[in-house]
Amino acid sequence: MDKIILVSHCFFNPHSVIKPKKSNTNLSSDIISYFLSLGYGFFQLPCPELTCMGKKRWAMSFEQYDTPFFKSHSQKILDPLIPQLEDYLNNDTIIAGVIGIKGSPSCATHIVSSNPDWEGIFQENIESCIKIEGDGVFIKELKIILKQLKINCPMFELPSTSISNEEKSKWIQDIKKYMI
Ligand code: SF4
Repeated sequence: MDKIILVSHCFFNPHSVIKPKKSNTNLSSDIISYFLSLGYGFFQLPCPELTCMGKKRWAMSFEQYDTPFFKSHSQKILDPLIPQLEDYLNNDTIIAGVIGIKGSPSCATHIVSSNPDWEGIFQENIESCIKIEGDGVFIKELKIILKQLKINCPMFELPSTSISNEEKSKWIQDIKKYMI
């Protein structure tokens, strides 16, 4: 069986992230090298925020993205992926896991940035956006599709900022342990 890992767009493309860029390309390179060497493939998901508001967007909270408009946008950009995933499944390919982005209001798979009070002219302290348990808005829509396709795979999230070598080794060990 072939195995494919679905990854958030900025896992490969740090230029899709809001400024100042905080992507973790060192860690994603290690993950890519390791799983490619084992014969896995990678499937890059579209970036829901870039394709909605472009590169000059502000940092926003989960609650600001949690609207019918952004959900509908997420569904629209996920739609073309459904037949591709179906075709992989019909042809001896397993979806082995999903790697989202920790803290992202759109692409988190466990810990999301939240501030229900953010709105209006941007003047808030970014620190007032706290981390809470939950999926990002885009990942929630992706999960609906995975369920429809009867895909049951582990969900991971790449830390969005650099981490110590010790944390990095632990993160890689965890992902190795649970990836299908
Ligand atoms: S976390 Fe998701 S929305 Fe944010 S830059 Fe990465 S792919 Fe785009």
